[in-house]
Amino acid sequence: MSAVAVEGVWKFYGDFPALRDVCLTAEQGACLALIGRNGAGKTTLLRTIAGFSRHGKGEIRILGTSPRETETRRHIGFIGHGISVYDELSALENLTLYARLYGLANPRKAALEWLERTGLERVRDGLVREFSRGMRQRLAVARAFLHEPSVLLLDEPFTALDDRAIAVLQGLLRDGLAQGRTIILSTHQLREALELASHVALLIRGQVAFHGPCTPEMVADPGLVYARYGED
Ligand code: ATP
Repeated sequence: MSAVAVEGVWKFYGDFPALRDVCLTAEQGACLALIGRNGAGKTTLLRTIAGFSRHGKGEIRILGTSPRETETRRHIGFIGHGISVYDELSALENLTLYARLYGLANPRKAALEWLERTGLERVRDGLVREFSRGMRQRLAVARAFLHEPSVLLLDEPFTALDDRAIAVLQGLLRDGLAQGRTIILSTHQLREALELASHVALLIRGQVAFHGPCTPEMVADPGLVYARYGED
């Protein structure tokens, strides 16, 4: 059983097909880099896989079950564009709150651990509304990892991070993969993603134009997939 299986999925906004017959799989411990130009459908696909967005025809399975089931949701970690943390709470309060919602045994301990792992322990009591974009993104990373999900769905996770924070996130993702987590991430930062990816999928206008293993050639020349399978 694949950790993530997308079979023949269509998604319409009105009569515009944002996803057209998408088929993708990610096995346990795999890291799939989802690439494609602006508007190709990456965000739509990740939100659909995460169960936030309803789709038309087709089927999505996470660990064999629908992502819309409550039990499945506990196994998913998500980073999206609108970072879902509360502005009026501190970093520590945010993570403790989410740890409680996930039913973790020791919410404060988990929150403190992830503040440390994302380099936010110094500002743990600061209100999120005063955070820079980079700090918010670190907090979003901490939130996504907090409940140790089996599947991480990450939309542009490197956005707004400086080089040090990118290296920290790459380290966390590497550790996660070594522990058998499955990662699907969308990105414009090809180099950072391909260094981690075991597989690559290229979306063009809502369709999968390429899906296959990430080769050393692709890592050496991140533009290769576009050059070979893209439109121009
Ligand atoms: P980006 O890299 O810019 O985030 P993307 O690959 O993530 O792009 P999506 O945001 O998934 O692409 O958008 C795919 C297509 O669906 C685009 O043509 C977009 O205009 C359209 N679209 C996305 N969200 C909506 C919406 N809520 N209503 C109508 N059309 C939408």
